[in-house]
Amino acid sequence: MKNQLFIDGEYCAAASGQVFDVVDPSNRQVFAQVARGGPDDVDRAVKAARRAFDEGPWPRLSGAERAAVLHRMGDAIAARRDELARLEVQDNGKPLPEALWDIDDTAGVFHFYADLAARLDNSAEQGIPLAMDGFTSKAVKEPVGVAGAIIPWNFPMLMASWKVAPALAAGCTVVLKPSEATPMTALELGGIAKAAGLPPGALNIVTGFGPEAGQPLTEHPGVDKLAFTGSVPTGSRIMAAAARDIKAVSLELGGKSPLVVFADTPIDEAVEWIMFGIYWNQGEVCSATSRVLVEEPLYEPLMARLAEEAGRIRIGHGLEDGVLLGPLVNEAQHEKVLSAIERGKTEGRLVTGGGVPKGLEGGFYVEPTIFADMAEDAWIWREEIFGPVLCVKSFRTEDEAIRMANDSRFGLAAAVMSADLDRAERVARAFRAGIVWINCSQPTFTEAPWGGYKQSGIGRELGEWGLNNYLETKQITAFDRSKPWGWYLK
Ligand code: ADP
Repeated sequence: MKNQLFIDGEYCAAASGQVFDVVDPSNRQVFAQVARGGPDDVDRAVKAARRAFDEGPWPRLSGAERAAVLHRMGDAIAARRDELARLEVQDNGKPLPEALWDIDDTAGVFHFYADLAARLDNSAEQGIPLAMDGFTSKAVKEPVGVAGAIIPWNFPMLMASWKVAPALAAGCTVVLKPSEATPMTALELGGIAKAAGLPPGALNIVTGFGPEAGQPLTEHPGVDKLAFTGSVPTGSRIMAAAARDIKAVSLELGGKSPLVVFADTPIDEAVEWIMFGIYWNQGEVCSATSRVLVEEPLYEPLMARLAEEAGRIRIGHGLEDGVLLGPLVNEAQHEKVLSAIERGKTEGRLVTGGGVPKGLEGGFYVEPTIFADMAEDAWIWREEIFGPVLCVKSFRTEDEAIRMANDSRFGLAAAVMSADLDRAERVARAFRAGIVWINCSQPTFTEAPWGGYKQSGIGRELGEWGLNNYLETKQITAFDRSKPWGWYLK
């Protein structure tokens, strides 16, 4: 019954009894139907989470006890690695090696936050030196309460773990709303959590559409904190909903991240990381380095090599050996990316790709695409496309590269490649972005902070920063009664 909602420790149908279709993006076939959650289901889920937080054992366990459950969840995910990765391929379209990487990462995220939960037993209290004699004070960290987590479709199970694992580690209880495009692997977390000994209500999963299941979660008075990953317009709506009763919010939104390549970079290295930066996961990556800036002497030779290598990328079904580019997630995304490409053709020069690969018209495939010679104010240069579409421009000076790189309303990620490490460090510091790579693009580590500047979001996930998202800080200050005091009763 895993295609149902998971509420209060049990899989159950939506109150309306309705379901929605889940489509395999490689062939447009419906392969599953999943419960279509609505406001009533969200209400039940939030109430279960509220009870589990206000009265249940989870927030009252020691960090070490919570760690044991989270480690068992990590172990269970690792034990089902192949099955979960194949489900991810069917649901999302990504190539199997990338899905395996995601699932390994997901298990790792649970283990990482298990360790941080255990450490909270010693680190959740911090003494505060006070200037005034007679008082002692300490800061204690406590779980923020019921967390509402709303996640996207590009890394379905991994994005669930980025929110669920730190929230549970902190002692919060959670209502998770996976994307309607890819609900399958997140739903598995319910059974995994239950088998690992997570108490009922500590994790609830409501599948369904944004306006029907997402929005009621953002507006529910029983939710203390919202954590969202997705588009800027939806993030803005979520922040507005949170404003009404002052819920805490963390947002990880879009990007149009630059990769600056200096001419002293070996061409093979540049080609490898440029392609990894935009074609990995079909370019459906918020941090994708979709704007490449190349120093002039390298520009022409690099463009020639890039066009050649992009044309060689094996496109196909995610389970086929050697495939490095699968279909996009669904029809809506396919149309969005193809129409962005059409717009790009009016704004710049199409260097390679630009269409649906021959013989693969049955799925939501798009060729690896490169545009050059567009103006700095071109729509394709400025807006997030979320597909395998790269824009390349040249630059003459370091200052010009930094100016163009930072000229964006986004600030999620940025990358710089150069043999001169002093220069690379200087440029890295000059970027207005939350995630900066030197001589690579995209590798993501559970230990390091993840999130954006400007319209790319608020707050940081992963590492200790991710745990802090789900912790409140309380000061406890005590007076030493043996000391003199008296204001009214002198
Ligand atoms: P996309 O359009 O590519 O799916 P979104 O940012 O809209 O990107 O979706 C990310 C997540 O946000 C999904 O789980 C989606 O269901 C959810 N969502 C969409 N609209 C809303 C909304 N108004 N309130 C809450 N969640 C929403």
